[in-house]
Amino acid sequence: MDLTVQALIVGGGATGTAIARDLALRGVSVCLLERGDLASGTTGNYHGLLHSGARYATNDPAAARECREENAVLRRIAPHCIDDTSGLFLVLDARAELLFQPAFVAGCAEAGIALEELDHAEVLREEPLVAPNVLRAFRTNDAVLDGWRLCVANTLAAQDHGAWAFRGVTIDRIMREGDRVVGASGRNSITLQFYTVRADYIINATGVWAGRLAALAGVEVALAPNKGTMVAMARRPVSHVLNHCRPPGDGDIIVPNGTGVVLGTTATPTADPDDTAVPPGEADRMVAEAIRMAPVLREIVPVRSWAALRPLAPAEQQGGRPDPQGRGLTRDFLLIDHEARDGLGGFVTIVGGKVTTARRMAEAVADLICAKLGVDAPCRTAEEPLPGAAARRSSV
Ligand SMILES: Cc1cc2nc3c(=O)[nH]c(=O)nc-3n(C[C@H](O)[C@H](O)[C@H](O)COP(=O)(O)OP(=O)(O)OC[C@H]3O[C@@H](n4cnc5c(N)ncnc54)[C@H](O)[C@@H]3O)c2cc1C
Repeated sequence: MDLTVQALIVGGGATGTAIARDLALRGVSVCLLERGDLASGTTGNYHGLLHSGARYATNDPAAARECREENAVLRRIAPHCIDDTSGLFLVLDARAELLFQPAFVAGCAEAGIALEELDHAEVLREEPLVAPNVLRAFRTNDAVLDGWRLCVANTLAAQDHGAWAFRGVTIDRIMREGDRVVGASGRNSITLQFYTVRADYIINATGVWAGRLAALAGVEVALAPNKGTMVAMARRPVSHVLNHCRPPGDGDIIVPNGTGVVLGTTATPTADPDDTAVPPGEADRMVAEAIRMAPVLREIVPVRSWAALRPLAPAEQQGGRPDPQGRGLTRDFLLIDHEARDGLGGFVTIVGGKVTTARRMAEAVADLICAKLGVDAPCRTAEEPLPGAAARRSSV
């Protein structure tokens, strides 16, 4: 398969598929290549939370604001990808109430995140199986976001606007002419068919593998991959996303998902983007932490545990202080124009962010690519519903 397009996007996760949609809606000719299936990287293995922003209210105000804004956009354009559970931040002990709650409430107010306070009796009415010693809770706009569905809907939208999209194709060569990238090639792992795509711009949306793709182009992208462990439980005894109202730490979130719940997570730096092994004892620790919020989980069987890697930018690139655990690294994203940074034209890298904020990341990338291509078309992704959204609206 030989193709020539204006923009080649490598990586079919939340970020790459959102970029494909944005550029295609602006009339740019696009090809998206993914080596596995859509969402087979971090996006298909994440915790599943459509953030209200409250989790970041005390430690990452910029991410908190972005999540709040994008939460509203996704509810508008992608209601069929969302299970609108709402969320509760549970205050379980007097120490947290004294030490964390005031900062949490102030941080949410600062970021414009709406909170509704529920007293002990109200919490137990809404969630009868949470810890009986719960003091109070704060209701937030948290919900559950299906990352796979979102990627499929983004890709369908891009294809509806003329984009090519292929799964199973690993890019293993980037073609350069002098100080410019001019295309890439790879092979489908099942059909063994070769793909060669010539493009004015290649967008590196390969998440934790961004350093490897950049190396094929002859430039360096430093990342601080950060691993999180999750555990799926066999039943769904709670109906809200539950957060432990305390400083962000290990095992402080329970996310209802389908007929079960997902417990998590952790934050462990790792150098290897393929290191998704669950460290010994970590799954048990996730279950023990979740039991503090919902003791009923003692009686429910863990079905499986797994880990995924956050494609975060290192502290130095974020202008921050060293952070051994990586929990303080901002969930904001990093967009690298390699022409400006390395003198290599035609190549752009985007890393970081969240599934919740992928549309906004894509808008920043598409703005940059359109400016370079001389395409004068506004971003429409915050207004145009995704394919399938209308059916959901009329059926509920
Ligand atoms: C433990 C954990 C919990 C999280 N929880 C949340 C949450 O609750 N809410 C939230 O909003 N965010 C959450 N996140 C963050 C979010 O999951 C990630 O920021 C997001 O999924 C990254 O998406 P991406 O598209 O950039 O990367 P990915 O989804 O990893 O996509 C990159 C894709 O590139 C492909 N690829 C790589 N190399 C090549 C190549 N050479 N050729 C072709 N294809 C290639 C990969 O196969 C992959 O599919 C969490 C992350 C982790 C790790």
